[in-house]
Amino acid sequence: MTTPDPTTPVSLGTGPADTSGPGPVGLAGPGRAFPGPAGPGSRWWPDRRGSADAPGCLACDVNNLRVAPLGGLIIATDTWVADHCIPPMARGYVILKPRRHVTAVADLSPAEAGDFGVVAQRLMAAMRTVLAPARIYRFDFGESLDHLHFHLMPRHPGMSPTGAALIERVFAHEWLVTESEAADAARRIREALG
Ligand SMILES: [Zn+2]
Repeated sequence: MTTPDPTTPVSLGTGPADTSGPGPVGLAGPGRAFPGPAGPGSRWWPDRRGSADAPGCLACDVNNLRVAPLGGLIIATDTWVADHCIPPMARGYVILKPRRHVTAVADLSPAEAGDFGVVAQRLMAAMRTVLAPARIYRFDFGESLDHLHFHLMPRHPGMSPTGAALIERVFAHEWLVTESEAADAARRIREALG
């Protein structure tokens, strides 16, 4: 079995992936501290690059590899893309989002909606295999980034409390991991997809 190139989108059999656009660029920006908040002005929210599907959208930049995701893209089909959460608020915390700039589930195309279940099932099966979490939480807010994106947040053994209270503490970076740890988790999940 060959190891997928982390910078090259892979296909789940739904058609060729979009590999157009310039190559990846680093996330780090001058003078930006780590860890930082996941919002405008942080190193995780790079300057606008002008050619995104939606100008200034971080998700569009990552989908099109204008911003390099930690460990590379985990899934990249015609319709859905997954990569490690930035900042890496927990090991193996994955963001799943449509390739196209869509702001609401109600606006998904039939193809996007139809592919979602297959992609989500395969992705979370791989996460379970690699991470052995107690749970995988699934949620979206859309409050700081309007590109529709689903948080697939592993609750590792020992992470408590549970439920909404845990999410708040994860967002406070209580379980922040290093970029290297996140990249390793992303690579292992991608490899587990087969
Ligand atoms: Zn977008």
